Formats: sequence, structure tokens, C-alpha cells
Amino acid sequence: MGGQLQEPLRERGHPVDTQPVYATPNPPTPGRPIIFDPNFCHGCNVCVTICPEDVFLPSPTKGSPPIILHPEECWYCGVCVDDCNRQGALRLNHPLQQRVRWKRKATGEHFRMR
Ligand code: SF4
Ligand code: SF4
Repeated sequence: MGGQLQEPLRERGHPVDTQPVYATPNPPTPGRPIIFDPNFCHGCNVCVTICPEDVFLPSPTKGSPPIILHPEECWYCGVCVDDCNRQGALRLNHPLQQRVRWKRKATGEHFRMR
């Protein structure tokens, strides 16, 4: 577990394992559940800490967006987006088949979830 992740966990009173963990992202997974905008993300790693599915790892480059390590584990709960302290730093990228469409009967307008 990287030092950048340990500090927020310590501050919240969680026990921290000091043994290093080595992992690599899962390239064959086609899903990209989260899109980071490096122009807004300042690499605070709050989203890394808060994600209940441990989708992210802190970037080895300080101040950069986290690494998406396990995209297939994301359940699109949106907690990472809600708790991010930089508006626009990340957004959910729902799979196409989950982007619900609907029509407003009164006007005939069509909408689709982004
Ligand atoms: S996306 Fe938000 S919470 Fe996550 S590292 Fe960037 S600024 Fe921090
Ligand atoms: S949407 Fe939920 S499960 Fe997916 S990366 Fe964000 S916090 Fe984790």
C-alpha cells in the first residue's frame, strides 16, 4: 500500500499494513468506469480511500490522478465523485447499455443518461 494512501487511512483511525503491495492494472478489461481530468485532479487520493470496491491505486507520480486498477469491480455507486473535493476532476462513465433513455411525453424530447 503506497504512502500516499496510508496517511488518509491513519487519519481516519484505520490500521495500516506497512508491507508493500505490488499490483498492475488489468489491461484486458474493456470497461472504463471513471474518467479523470488531470487539469482538475490534484492527486489527493480521497477517491482511492473512499471507494468501497478498491477500484483505484494512488498514482506513483505525486499530484497525478489515481490509477484505475480494477475497473471491473466498479458498481457505479458514485461515492468517489461525491467525495472528490475538486469539481470536474472525475466523472462516471456508464457502459452504453446502462445509459437509460427516456422520452418526455408532453414535448416528445428524448434524453439519455450520460
Ligand atoms: S479525482 Fe478528486 S478525490 Fe480523486 S485524487 Fe483527484 S482530486 Fe482527489
Ligand atoms: S463509482 Fe463507486 S465503486 Fe466505482 S470507482 Fe467510484 S467509489 Fe468505486
